[in-house]
Amino acid sequence: MGSSGNATPPICPLCKQPPEILRRATDGSVTLQVSCERCGRFSISDQALADLTSENRYLLSAASRLWTGERRPLILTTNIRELVEQVPKFTVSDQLDALLQLVADRSPELGSASTFDSNRDYPLLVARNVGEATYFANGLAKRGFINTIGSRLAVTLEGWERLSAI
Ligand SMILES: [Zn+2]
Repeated sequence: MGSSGNATPPICPLCKQPPEILRRATDGSVTLQVSCERCGRFSISDQALADLTSENRYLLSAASRLWTGERRPLILTTNIRELVEQVPKFTVSDQLDALLQLVADRSPELGSASTFDSNRDYPLLVARNVGEATYFANGLAKRGFINTIGSRLAVTLEGWERLSAI
């Protein structure tokens, strides 16, 4: 593309949006270390970058964001399948319930806005992108389980009742 040099902003290989940090590992391994507010912290080998597809990218993003291990996950060609298989197999209704639960978990008190942010937190639902998360949020709103306060989501009384019945 010519000589734009370092003008190209870094792109997270999983969500394809700007990460907070993306750097070469300094330990001599051929890996990238990424910190992304959507995908969390992970490392990925150059070889594994070539194995990313539209089908495994969002699942790896979810796997990384949901990761609870002490050290960040290292994505390799040899463990992509294993990482993808760790991701919960949510049905659409599971995703709706998961979203309601997440919005509730991040609500400081009843009736107040949640800190859940679809733009940042959609991988927690194993959604492909913010568009899918918004679609689920609209579905919950239509059922009366959440509403919006400004640009934030909030659980309604009906939503809290629904959660106590799950
Ligand atoms: Zn990302």
